[in-house]
Amino acid sequence: MNKVPFNKPSLVGDEIKYIRDAVRLGQLAGDGTYTERCQKQISKLVGGGDTLISHSCTAALEMAAILCDLGPGDEVIMPSFTFVSTANAVVLRGAVPVFVDIDPVSLCLDPNKVRAAITSKTRAIMAVHYAGFPAGIETLADIAKDHGLFLIEDAAQALGSRYKGRPAGSFGDLAAFSFHETKNVISGEGGALVVNNPAMAERAEIIREKGTNRSQFFRGQVDKYTWVDIGSSFLPGELIAAYLAAQLDVEPAIRARRLSVYDAYTEAFSDLEDRGLVTLPKALPDCDGNGHMFYFLMKSQNARQHFIQEMKARGIGTPFHYVPLHSAPAGRRYGRTHGSLTVTDQVSETLVRLPMFYDLGSDIETVISAATEVLELSWLASLHSPAQLLSGAGISSAAATNRSGV
Ligand SMILES: *Cc1c(COP(=O)(O)O)cnc(C)c1O
Repeated sequence: MNKVPFNKPSLVGDEIKYIRDAVRLGQLAGDGTYTERCQKQISKLVGGGDTLISHSCTAALEMAAILCDLGPGDEVIMPSFTFVSTANAVVLRGAVPVFVDIDPVSLCLDPNKVRAAITSKTRAIMAVHYAGFPAGIETLADIAKDHGLFLIEDAAQALGSRYKGRPAGSFGDLAAFSFHETKNVISGEGGALVVNNPAMAERAEIIREKGTNRSQFFRGQVDKYTWVDIGSSFLPGELIAAYLAAQLDVEPAIRARRLSVYDAYTEAFSDLEDRGLVTLPKALPDCDGNGHMFYFLMKSQNARQHFIQEMKARGIGTPFHYVPLHSAPAGRRYGRTHGSLTVTDQVSETLVRLPMFYDLGSDIETVISAATEVLELSWLASLHSPAQLLSGAGISSAAATNRSGV
């Protein structure tokens, strides 16, 4: 049987050519020609801001936490429905992540819940653009401004997405992007910090260069370079930057290809959604997504488990996503919650992701027919549950729909 993985990293252009060129140029350490080129490309895509590429989005988030001067006694409001790095960056500074619930449609932070969670200890809001949708970001920016808080965008999944025409990553004081091989634009591991707050630009460079003013030294702005602040080695080498530069060259084409897969999935499954078998991602007001992810929300955790097993049996990878951070051992130790997180718990138990990658090609048909078959069969089985068999109801209509639907 045809095997369709959930994700597959692809060569999309000049990656190998640029890597050879980087080798020829002779600088394999970071901050060479290709790093500069990536930074310019990302700043252009995100619409301004100073970009510093990093070895991961995790690193970019850690830099962001340092730049906001987070420390013991400080709190940062964030979703529980996110990757561990969002919270770790805060915990590593000795500050406390405060987990609040997400909106049931956008699966992003619910601005009203954020407002309610603000205390005198709150220093920052971390917004996660789940599935690449920068939902609610304008409202969150207003809240941050009203309360004198920093806004950090965890835009790991959102390169090329827009809110009211404005790029994701341009709203916060800081924004972190990921180029991990599971994201849209990739370099294996990789990330970037976009610094929109001009007061943070100089320090960002220093933190990324192990706390030294090395970059200023190379620009001739200081006559010796020395240790001036805390920092670490957050930068990638030039081979990574070369691969990334080639991907960034064709970002619009990557996004267009993924969006076409997204649209095809939406069209193929909308009937099943109308019949109540599954819930699809919704087009969100003012958001232009980047086709990062396509998911189903299933009726229950059991239904999801069954779906994943049946798809696996058909050779197709459909993983679930985050285990909520607030209920994880480290989340309980280092963080706290504000309000109930019922949407987070519900979504975490029922969300399942479909294969989505640049080279998916005609395998999308395999995914669509397998998923349709699995959902139809589950639906039939539910109609044939003992209660209905006893009453004899629903069987003939189920068979009829099955013929037309599969
Ligand atoms: C992928 C991801 C990260 C981590 O990115 P890395 O580049 O692997 O460090 C952080 N936050 C979110 C929301 C992500 O999706």
